[in-house]
Amino acid sequence: MNLVALTIHDASDKLRRREISSVDLTNAVFQRIDATDEKVHAFITLARESAIERAQQADARLRSDPQVSPLLGIPIAVKDNFLTRGLKTTCASKLLGDFMPPYDATTIIKLRDAGAVLIGKTNLDEFAMGSSAEYSAFFPTHNPWNLERIPGGSSGGSAAAVAADQCIAALGTDTGGSIRQPAACCGVVGLKPTYGRVSRNGIIAFASSMDQVGPLTKDVRDAALLLKALAGHDPADSTSSTRLVPDYGTALNGEVKGLRIGIAKEYFVPGMDGLVQQAVRDAIRKVENSGAERVDIGLPYTEYAVAVYYIVATAEASSNLARYDGMRFGHRAEARDLTETYMISRDEGFGPEVKRRIMLGTYVLSAGYYDAYYLKAQRVRTLIKRDFEEAFKHCDVIVAPTAPTTAFKIGEKIQDPLQMYLSDIYTISANLAGLPAISLPCGFDGDGMPIGLQIIGKPFDEVTVLRTAYAYEQATEWHKKKPTL
Ligand code: GLN
Repeated sequence: MNLVALTIHDASDKLRRREISSVDLTNAVFQRIDATDEKVHAFITLARESAIERAQQADARLRSDPQVSPLLGIPIAVKDNFLTRGLKTTCASKLLGDFMPPYDATTIIKLRDAGAVLIGKTNLDEFAMGSSAEYSAFFPTHNPWNLERIPGGSSGGSAAAVAADQCIAALGTDTGGSIRQPAACCGVVGLKPTYGRVSRNGIIAFASSMDQVGPLTKDVRDAALLLKALAGHDPADSTSSTRLVPDYGTALNGEVKGLRIGIAKEYFVPGMDGLVQQAVRDAIRKVENSGAERVDIGLPYTEYAVAVYYIVATAEASSNLARYDGMRFGHRAEARDLTETYMISRDEGFGPEVKRRIMLGTYVLSAGYYDAYYLKAQRVRTLIKRDFEEAFKHCDVIVAPTAPTTAFKIGEKIQDPLQMYLSDIYTISANLAGLPAISLPCGFDGDGMPIGLQIIGKPFDEVTVLRTAYAYEQATEWHKKKPTL
């Protein structure tokens, strides 16, 4: 049996039936990492010893109380911007190169309480700023489907690790597409929950009004399982919702009869890859054939989404990153006085993309420009949100591409930030409006690179998003394809 290829739900069944042990599964995952990570470079840090210890504890718990959680004994990788107590957390930045967090993120505690086995921390664009994982201060991650291509970003390490069977599932964060876009590039499932559904406590902040934690998995059922474990109110995050967490498992009945799927013409523009467009249109037809009804909707403010996002996100980032001053944590440079210490620590610690964003964000917030840029962007953000409110009067979910192209070549866009920013054109709006959205595989391009289908839902309606995704997945075989490494 190829243990590493298992999904959470399959592995969990086998663990309960005692056909396999968590220690076997965890060892298999580390063997797979040893055999493949020289090529993929998905991981920044591995937690071998603590993982085996956790796996042993899980095996003991499975013997005494097998009914606990479907995550019990499951090896999971986590993006390196989640605080993990006693396990290095770098955010792929030199600034936090050897930072040891004093506490765990709420989501890490939830995983641990469920009995999951944390195997290591995955690569990302520095401070989650990017769309290709190339802005990591350490090394780029390579796409398991073609090692010369990017895995997407910023959760590129997590997506590549899932695609390469280096873990059973992974966690990422999504501020403007960083779970969905890498999921699309690597042919896996990635879910960004509604803003406030999952706690952000202990996630290294990038743009606090948009950051969300979510799962990257091998299928839709696993995404539902992980969301169930992660979601819920957290007193340590004032923006987390007190709404009850539904049983996402009930969404997985494959039933979409009568469901109204909205198609926005703004999401099918010239300039997008022809094969991506074709695959997404085929997918829409497939969902229609299962009994869903297609509704044409308009999202007229979509054209401003990228501009609005890169004002709001950079403004928030410039404020969030002000804490890295070389004093309280992270890299501290040798300098003559305090001001110089701040300046040199930041200069040495941050990479070029992070600096670009801090400068842009500081600029749009500064007196004289605040009204013209930041305030205006916030206003347009409201209009984008209203677009969705209006559209959702006529449909239950919106189906769209996840990204305009498949994974591009490493190095292709690194010198051209604007081109890089356009990779997020279809994912950003869901963050600006706080909506849940999933990406799942819907085909391959002529070079064999995976294509992602995006399904966006109403606030807190992850159930319908998952239901639609599951129905499509059941009708197709894309999610069963694996890269050869
Ligand atoms: N690619 C987007 C950016 O560079 C989104 C990043 C994210 O979602 N963390 O900001």
